[in-house]
Amino acid sequence: MDHFPIFLSLKQNRVVVSGGGEAAKAKLRLLLKTSANIEVFAEQPDPEITEWARTKRLSLVQTPLTAERIQGAALFYAANEDASKDHRVAVLARSAGVLVNIVDNLQDSQFITPAIVDRDPVTVAIGTEGTAPVLARAIKADIETRLPSTVGILARLANSFRTKAEVLPFGRKRRAFWSDFFFSVGPRALADGGEEKVKSVLADLLVRHQNSRQTSGHVAFVGSGPGDPELLTLKARKALDTADVVIYDRLVGAPILELARREAILINAGKEGFGASTCQKDINTMIVEHAASGAQVLRLKGGDATVFGRLDEEIEACDAAGISWHIVPGITAASASVAAIGQSMTRRGRNTSVRYLTGHDMRGFADHDWADLAKQDTVAAIYMGKKSARFIQGRLLMHGAERSTPVTIVENASRPDQRILEATLDTLPHILEKSNVTGPALTLYGLAPRATEADLITRTLQEFA
Ligand code: SAH
Repeated sequence: MDHFPIFLSLKQNRVVVSGGGEAAKAKLRLLLKTSANIEVFAEQPDPEITEWARTKRLSLVQTPLTAERIQGAALFYAANEDASKDHRVAVLARSAGVLVNIVDNLQDSQFITPAIVDRDPVTVAIGTEGTAPVLARAIKADIETRLPSTVGILARLANSFRTKAEVLPFGRKRRAFWSDFFFSVGPRALADGGEEKVKSVLADLLVRHQNSRQTSGHVAFVGSGPGDPELLTLKARKALDTADVVIYDRLVGAPILELARREAILINAGKEGFGASTCQKDINTMIVEHAASGAQVLRLKGGDATVFGRLDEEIEACDAAGISWHIVPGITAASASVAAIGQSMTRRGRNTSVRYLTGHDMRGFADHDWADLAKQDTVAAIYMGKKSARFIQGRLLMHGAERSTPVTIVENASRPDQRILEATLDTLPHILEKSNVTGPALTLYGLAPRATEADLITRTLQEFA
């Protein structure tokens, strides 16, 4: 991010614009929405600008611009539609120590003006650092349709009630009051009886919330899916919107954590097989302590929380402390991995069952019914199978598995850096070693990526060559 988005107060502040044509007008239309004192320097201003000056919405200066005249302004726009003139006035503004925007010249501008969705005082600013104006316009159009026009009115009315609402304790209780107002009571009252009605329901709502009991804490055990934020369930999204505390695993990536409420406390409880870790007992204690203090705790686990996630231990800790909980399922890494290779977990005539295995458990490499796994057409999703690959290979071969059994490794399934490595039982350890697999990887035993028609043609041609 080269440009940091902020909202700048222009109250009793000056903005200077150099230029009097279309480019200047486009910027002025935006600036006129603010309470800034606008000064336009234009020798031959467009009639619309003259009209704005006549109605005192801005002041128009028709003498040449100097650095002294810019001094002390908050922002400066060079909008002359003439590169050399823009350059000249930009130099003046910089020498006066004022932030400069040159219209249509990202390179030499110190700030850029975003696309705006205006529901004053609610404002959405959209920026792409000049890379994708088409995208910015599409996002703007999308938000315009989604954000009711009444949002601004409700925000303004809420603002005038803000000090009264401070009788509610800061945090969860006050938040619950405002949520109730913005998403339920407020819009209804505005539709029923306009602003007056909203004002009266605000007072009633406050009394109701003052009398409501302190909410008790709760733990949601939520699967965050394999990594792609679009593979979160709607319930997981909602839990991220409401949680006070998010305790997350190493597998939960930044794009998902970014969806948490800004005020939420984020705690990394990362554990790594064979690596540095927060011990499970400490995690249990942390979950229980936060919930016992009344917080809505989101225990966020990669994939599905119920698959190799030590969920039971955390549930038992909650039960022992009398804390309520529920589970929200997620998409497990195995599902994302078969999807990535275009295969199905089960297939008529091939395998009627599928096994989820772990490569290692608390004692080291995990033991399984190898004789059964070695049978033809077995399909298994092996979690945490990187370090144990050679061990698994040895056991399966010893029990009669074919060396040519297909094995596919999917690293970082569903993430932008996803990699698919094709192997056989014979080549599995070798492929893993030479491929430098550093991300989480799932081993699909008994499955090869589905060959596309193009692959098949190439292979056939190679055979005939
Ligand atoms: N609860 C998780 C699994 C936790 S065990 C789930 O349901 O997916 C951790 C193992 O899951 C990793 O060692 C790796 O084998 C697998 N894994 C998790 N996310 C993955 C991903 N995005 N791609 C490939 N494997 C993944």
